[in-house]
Formats: sequence, structure tokens, C-alpha cells
Amino acid sequence: MLDPQRLRADIPAYADASRPTPVFLDSAGSSLPPQVVLDTAIEHLRREAEIGGYRAASERLDDLAAVKTAVATLINAEPASIALSDSASRAWSDFFYSVPLAAGDRILLSQSDYASNAIAALQRARATGAVVEAIPAAADGRLDVEALAGMLDERVKLVSLVHVPTNGGLINPVTEVSRLAHGVGALVLLDACQSTGQLPIDVAALEVDALSATGRKWLRGPRGTGFLYVRPDLAATMEPGRLDLHSAQWVEPDEYLLAPDASRFEFWEHDVAARLGFGAAVRYLLDLGPDLVYSAIADRAAHLRVALPGIRGVTVRDLGETRSGIVSFTVDGIAPVDVRDRLLERNITVTVSHRGSTLLDMSARGLDSVIRASPHCFVTFEDLDRFTDEVAAVAAGR
Ligand SMILES: *Cc1c(COP(=O)(O)O)cnc(C)c1O
Repeated sequence: MLDPQRLRADIPAYADASRPTPVFLDSAGSSLPPQVVLDTAIEHLRREAEIGGYRAASERLDDLAAVKTAVATLINAEPASIALSDSASRAWSDFFYSVPLAAGDRILLSQSDYASNAIAALQRARATGAVVEAIPAAADGRLDVEALAGMLDERVKLVSLVHVPTNGGLINPVTEVSRLAHGVGALVLLDACQSTGQLPIDVAALEVDALSATGRKWLRGPRGTGFLYVRPDLAATMEPGRLDLHSAQWVEPDEYLLAPDASRFEFWEHDVAARLGFGAAVRYLLDLGPDLVYSAIADRAAHLRVALPGIRGVTVRDLGETRSGIVSFTVDGIAPVDVRDRLLERNITVTVSHRGSTLLDMSARGLDSVIRASPHCFVTFEDLDRFTDEVAAVAAGR
């Protein structure tokens, strides 16, 4: 078992013992990085200022290559199948905008897909004459696998599903979806933004063609980082929608050669300090052990899912088998943003997930917004009790 107090010794946010301990429940938004992430990034910024960015980067070529190795280890893939990116949405759309689409083709999205994915799908549908359709949710909120089976035909070119939605605790049945979609030759693009760093991820077991994730959430990396995984044999056949002199080489006046692997989805310029910090975050997680981290998160979420419904006026809004670390809830008669602001005044950090982020799911459930508490492994049970006590006080109008 991980000891949260020992983990906190690595976290700058807890370093000042003279200040009240923050209760941090927003790892689904932007988590608290370990010291090594901060040090790695800052050290590199200093070095850039001393000798210029090119020389500073060339001193760290091995460490930069090791970033992909760490990510690949985390998701059980080859380093060549990883494209480093600056956000999950960038990574997702780098793949999505490269899937050939024609009039009449079908794109299927899960009901709890993230807004950015849906917006991109709608834009491409308008441009190409393809159509976007939502896969219904089953009674328990997870993607309805039987309904998907009934929707699939050869015109379906891509199935997009979210592993863990942004607004609640469910976990979608990815492998079943991959198998069904592959049966009709459709590609599967997994939005693993809320699962990477939280649940152990194995792309071979999930059988997805591509996967996107961000650095700043459960992985505890710097902002402006993320990655795309693309199945190697697929990456070698794809033409990214945009290229530069890193994703391709200009070899003849009218010829270019694509990079052989997933790096064809990367551009040359990037924030080197952030990328090194991101690598440090992934290695930190690998050292802790992704299975231990997940079980710590699951225990904390389970604790909240027992405590919160015991408070009069509080409704937990999670669906599915509710085993992810995102706990969503509402308080009768009080707007979620007001609950959040009141908690923030007590140095308890939670966020609000609004209808527009997961429009189909929130509309189907008649919800406008929910409060989202997402405890990472470094949160103590004492923190959780301080949080639920405060929620109880808000709910009671105190
Ligand atoms: C946060 C989030 C994203 C977007 O991540 P960015 O790094 O902000 O692009 C995508 N999908 C889900 C499910 C998310 O929660």
C-alpha cells in the first residue's frame, strides 16, 4: 500500500508545514506534480537561459528519447508508436483529422465523449459529408455494447470512445468495443485522458488503434504536455493532416518523405522543459507502481461514494461500475459553482464539470453541472473527511 504521508514528502504543495494543509481533489483537472517534475522542468529552463535552447536540448537528447520509452512502458507499447504532444485534444485531433472520410461514411461517438472530440467530428462531417452518430448508453451509463453491435456496418470508419468520462466515475468496456468495431473494419480511437495515470493502461489488451492522453491530470506532469499512441502498422500508413520538417523530410524539390513511425504526428518545436518534466512524471508513476496508484485512488473514491450519499441533500451522480477516481455529485438547491467556491475558501480544491463538456450525457440526465472530486493517491482519508464535513455544512446551509 502507498503511504500518502510519504508521497507528500515529494510534493512541493505540502512542503510548508506552517501553512494549513490543502485538501486537493482535482487530479481530473490539473494535479499536483511531484518535486522531481518541477525540478526537471525548471532546471532545463535555467539551462536554456544560460546556453540557448538548441544547445540545452542537445545536452538532453537521451533524456528526451527516454520520455517516449517511459510512456510506452506505461501503456505497454513500443516507443515508436508514441507521438508526444501538447494536450490530449491536440493528440486526439492529430489522429482524427488524419482518418480519411468521404460522404456517407459514419463516425460513432460514445454518449459521454468529450466536447472537443464531438466538435471536431461535427466539423469534419460538415466538410466531408460524413455523419456523426452517438452510441447509446446502457442503463448503467456505460457504452451499450449491444446497441453498438446493431449500429455497425462497413460505412463506419471510426468509433471514438472515452475510457473514463470527464464528469463521472464510469469506466467504458473498451476491448469489447474494439473487437466489434474491427469486425467491420472501423478504427477505434480511445480518449484515455481521464484514465491514463489513474488506471493501469495496456493498449495491447484494449486492442485500440489509437489513444490520446494529457500530462497535467492523473499523470501529474506539467501543463502543455500530452501524447498520442498509434498502432505501429497503422501509423506507417497514415498521412497526417499537417506536416512539418520533423514529421516529414523534404527530399526533392517536389517530394517529401514521412517519418516512418508515430513521430509523423509530431511537430519539431515543443516545450523541451515541459517535455522533460512530463517524462519525469511518467517515470515517477512507474516507480510508484501504476497498480498501487490505481488501488489507492479507487479506495479514496469508494470512501467518498459511501460518505457523500449519507449527507442530506447530496446526490452522487456517478454511473457505471463507478470505480474510477472521479466522484461527481450535486447538492440540492445550491449551484455546483457555489459549492466549489465555498470549498475553495476553505482551501479544498474541487472543480465543476459543465453540461457543455459532455453535452449528450448531461442532457440525457437533465444535469446542468456537477461538482467533481478526484482524489489522487497522495490524498489522505483525513482530507476526505474534512471535505465531506464541509460539504455537509454547505448542504445544511451553515
Ligand atoms: C480533459 C479532457 C480532455 C482534454 O484534455 P486537454 O489536455 O485539455 O486537451 C479530453 N477528454 C477528456 C475525457 C478530458 O477529461
